[in-house]
Amino acid sequence: MRSRLFRRSVFLASAIASLLVAAAPARKTQNVIFVMTDGLRWQEVFRGADPDLMDKEHGGVSDVGALRRAYWRDNAPERRELLMPFLWHDIAKAGQIFGNRDLDSEAAVTNEFKLSYPGYSETLTGFADPRVQSNDAIPNPNPTVLDWLNQKPAFQGRVAAFAAWDTFHAILNSDRASFPVNAGYEPFVAEPMTPRLELLNQLKAGMTRTFQFVPLDSIPFYTALEYLKSKKPRVLFLSLGETDEWAHDGNYRDYLNAAHHVDAYLRELWTTLQTMPEYQGSTTLIVSTDHGRGTGGEDWKGHGARIPESKYIWVAVLGPDTPALGERSHAEVKQNQLAATVGALLGEDYAASVPAAGKPIGEVLP
Ligand SMILES: [Zn+2]
Repeated sequence: MRSRLFRRSVFLASAIASLLVAAAPARKTQNVIFVMTDGLRWQEVFRGADPDLMDKEHGGVSDVGALRRAYWRDNAPERRELLMPFLWHDIAKAGQIFGNRDLDSEAAVTNEFKLSYPGYSETLTGFADPRVQSNDAIPNPNPTVLDWLNQKPAFQGRVAAFAAWDTFHAILNSDRASFPVNAGYEPFVAEPMTPRLELLNQLKAGMTRTFQFVPLDSIPFYTALEYLKSKKPRVLFLSLGETDEWAHDGNYRDYLNAAHHVDAYLRELWTTLQTMPEYQGSTTLIVSTDHGRGTGGEDWKGHGARIPESKYIWVAVLGPDTPALGERSHAEVKQNQLAATVGALLGEDYAASVPAAGKPIGEVLP
């Protein structure tokens, strides 16, 4: 009796298991493109331009009328679409976006520092290491999911990272990393060089340095795009920097302009991917930020431990495996889940290899 019951439950369990396997939809993602724009607040992403900052006093805006014509509408859905049309027309309709605190959707960092290096490190390693506590260019003690993927035969030589901020050489520990890392004002040298890469290097070398350590975003964006077209990596990481730089400068007009440009880059990137057989229908795009910023006339310019609300971020995902749940409400994600999410989209279990890492965001997976 007992053994018959046992046999029966074993049979039932294996029947259920095979049903579950049969029911699991096939994963289509073969490539992941991960774009981050530094310190772009959830407030602008979900509400559009902030009326309290479109002035001389708080936002350093000299021509308020022109800025309002460019980015102001009376209701938030129209305003945010004006600022980031690709994000709202395309990503948020066919994919998912987390982090609208007005809808009780919270995306947040778990590191206590709310600075760039700790944020990128948490994103790419999958956990907050208290040793990573400043923006000092100290080589990251922990390997990232990019290292982890590049060590697998299926991804070897198919991973690359491009960043505006030169500190990415430390964040990605490029001495140890066995994939290309291009950051800051350094030229990008590839085999073979293309005329576009030559020109991008000339522009980078010859441009007046608006920001000391961060070239304007068009340079790393088009460098990464050119690499993507010629080398066709399976995993491409791109970090853009202007949104944070203009905010620290207190220049709300160019902070909004930079966000608008990031949105145009995302559109160009996605459109390009859909014309390439290596990527079309098999590529997932993830977009996020390393930290939020404060609110109010002065605090919007900064972020860090002294500004608690700078822990809030946002995360958008678009791809063939991500259900089109759109703008998420009552949903919570943490920055430490992103590394394992990159792995899971590619069919790799990062969280099992790195137990300290957050679990993948299940709702964006098939
Ligand atoms: Zn910053």
